[in-house]
Amino acid sequence: MPCRQRRRSASTREVVINSYAFRTGRRFAVVGAVLTATAVVASPAGAGAARGCFDRAKEPYTSVVDSHLHFRPFGGRAIPFEEVTGYLHKAGVRHASVYGIGQTLPVDSGCTYYLDCPGTPVAPSMKNDLVNAANYVEAKPQDPALTLSMTFMDLNRPETIPPGIALYDKEFPGKFRWAGEVNLVKQALFPNHHTPATNKNIEDWAPFMKVLRERGIPITIHADLGNDREPTKYLPLMEETLRRYPHNKIVWAHMGLSKELATLDPDQHIRILERLLDAYPRLALDLSWRVLEDQYFSKPGVREKYAAFLDRYPTRAIPGTDFVASRNKDYKVYEEELEVTSRINKALGDKAFRGIALGENYFRLNGVKETAPEVCKAAR
Ligand SMILES: [Zn+2]
Repeated sequence: MPCRQRRRSASTREVVINSYAFRTGRRFAVVGAVLTATAVVASPAGAGAARGCFDRAKEPYTSVVDSHLHFRPFGGRAIPFEEVTGYLHKAGVRHASVYGIGQTLPVDSGCTYYLDCPGTPVAPSMKNDLVNAANYVEAKPQDPALTLSMTFMDLNRPETIPPGIALYDKEFPGKFRWAGEVNLVKQALFPNHHTPATNKNIEDWAPFMKVLRERGIPITIHADLGNDREPTKYLPLMEETLRRYPHNKIVWAHMGLSKELATLDPDQHIRILERLLDAYPRLALDLSWRVLEDQYFSKPGVREKYAAFLDRYPTRAIPGTDFVASRNKDYKVYEEELEVTSRINKALGDKAFRGIALGENYFRLNGVKETAPEVCKAAR
């Protein structure tokens, strides 16, 4: 519970004003209560008040953006839409991309997780996007601000995508401003009949990639780098995607990492990422999924390497939890996944922290008219 502890430690007007300017809702209410209790002793000069900056020593390190959040499960019951937005509000997350799920189980399946049901085919579907859109239009949430995402895209059947976008345009005009998470290659799904997209498939994406480009819509692509036996087996597929669509806003989910690739040398990984970031200025990295922390960042000496890398590319990554809203989970799970996926933030320099944790990179990528606060210099 690092957030709450930090909130309770707030004791100056500076923190209260920062919080008022940047964090809202419950988080503000808690800090507001602190203001009532401490206003008498707070410095009237309010040293940092005029700056309106973000004090990393006193404010939470958890990200205010969740760019990778599945509001729909693979199958079975979902956590109700407004319960999930309530989680975000409570956790201090103020912006999120609303993903469906790129792989749904058949409607008559009793499974809630595809790994429990090898042999059962999973496939992208419009159902979860349309449910999300209907819930969104009905609830009209303002805080958190939500961006609907098109998750239905079957990259192995690209001819089905433009008609799908046309249907969404008709039913929910202007509402879908993100695409993904879509699966280029996801090894975890191989037992469920998923096959990697081919180079021919990638070539045939051109019509829908043009639509996304013209609308400035980012697409988050799940593309496994490889596995422990062949760590870069699938890298050519991602490279082909980038080579063909250098002007699209492509977000590489999980930086290509996965449970199947637990032992990649961080230096080798970082070299690949740097080469591609340098070659493709519109490429962004998605830091979502606790597997990144559990399998990589938490190992001795590894966090420093990735933090230094992100400090060299402070504008090129966005945060997310990869939470999947199946009904067997509750707020505690969301809070934990947000905390775990945010631990890397603590190791970042101020510029990358502002870009990632405070949302500046997400705002820019998403065309949101919002600016993250500067980080207070004196606090570091
Ligand atoms: Zn995901």
